[in-house]
Amino acid sequence: GNIRDFLKIVFVGHVDHGKSTLVGRIFHDTDSLPEGKVESIRRMCERRGMPMEYAFLLDALQAERDQGITIDTTQIWFKSARRDYVIIDAPGHKEFLKNMITGAASADAAILVIDAKEGVQEQSRRHGYLLHLMGVPQVTVCVNKMDLVGYSQDRFDAIEREIRGYLQSIGVSPDHVIPVSGREGDLIVGPSASMPWYPGPSVVDALDGFRVPAPATDQPLRFPVQDVYKFDDRRIIAGRIESGTLRVGDTLLFSPTNKTVRVKSIEAWNAPAPPMKASAGQSVGITLDEQIFVERGHVASHESHPPIETDVFRAHVFWLGREPLKTGKTYRMKLANTEAPVTVQSIDNVIDTGDLSQRAGATVERNAVAEITVRSRKMLALDEFRDNQKTGRFVLIDGYDISGGGIVSMEGYADQRQM
Ligand code: GDP
Repeated sequence: GNIRDFLKIVFVGHVDHGKSTLVGRIFHDTDSLPEGKVESIRRMCERRGMPMEYAFLLDALQAERDQGITIDTTQIWFKSARRDYVIIDAPGHKEFLKNMITGAASADAAILVIDAKEGVQEQSRRHGYLLHLMGVPQVTVCVNKMDLVGYSQDRFDAIEREIRGYLQSIGVSPDHVIPVSGREGDLIVGPSASMPWYPGPSVVDALDGFRVPAPATDQPLRFPVQDVYKFDDRRIIAGRIESGTLRVGDTLLFSPTNKTVRVKSIEAWNAPAPPMKASAGQSVGITLDEQIFVERGHVASHESHPPIETDVFRAHVFWLGREPLKTGKTYRMKLANTEAPVTVQSIDNVIDTGDLSQRAGATVERNAVAEITVRSRKMLALDEFRDNQKTGRFVLIDGYDISGGGIVSMEGYADQRQM
């Protein structure tokens, strides 16, 4: 099949807890670095009279990336014996949170890094919550800098209990919690002589144990329209199939216009012959056997499993705006290929990601999570995030800035929807 053979991972955690160091170490210990890179960093550290700093490896790779030397300008790759990995967002990257909430950095798996000496911090919890909110399906925790706590099993056990307790309370169960030292290289690829008490996998073993998610071909069809092209008398509806499969002859339902029409042909950009079907992950154009009104932002599905059509919905948002989120204020919303002005009708709950306490509020401050009710000026086609990650995720734009990211979660609205 067309299952990817690489995994997209993201490193999260409190600043300075050792994400870059860990990544540098992984690159080093998996021999994923360009020839001479480690030596040049080692010499530079020696000249400065400091110990080898693995985090500089990442800085060096990123610098090259920023200068466009490496081919892909947003991603850095490494490989284990098992497969390839791409780090979809670099630790410390200032756009990190934005990328997470916009789905630009949609990860298959995450490593949450916690400093063994400092323990679980507010930012560790917030990032854990974000992973939950954004539906990152697989998480492993690394308790880093074990060298600073004398490789103490007691210290590790205490942190493991605390972070497992927190993650469990938000519905995340980590595959592993691993004691490591990025600086000393403990438990990056093999076992560690310093921690004979730890029976579990190393970081790279844990990575290799993550699953590569199968494409969403068996889910209900969602084909958000990106563009409508006219060639002579032909009209091609173009977009990316986000989930499901469509076939020539299928009857499609277009939302939110609620029109049904049959697929006359599928045009794939680089197929030798016109295909009879196309599936999740493919960008295609289709022609229809009737001229109905279709524009960018409309979503095609099958009648048996339509998206939700509504102008009001419930959501969880993560707010990043400099200005707090306010009820009554109008924002621009982008969801799949739709853009619409929306107002926040109510802020139903503000959730403290630290202790998970909830309160009602009139505003949501930067870095907070809230449950809100959103009203749109026009009808929308959307899904709950748990049903479809592509049509259940949106961003709110205030002026020119992406100020918040959210997921549609209609809990409590089910009854109204059926009416
Ligand atoms: P980031 O902000 O999470 O990417 O953290 P860095 O990787 O930049 O590390 C922050 C500091 O912690 C740097 O001075 C590292 O040298 C240090 N550090 C990282 N990992 C370890 C470790 O395993 N042991 C010790 N002793 N120091 C570490």
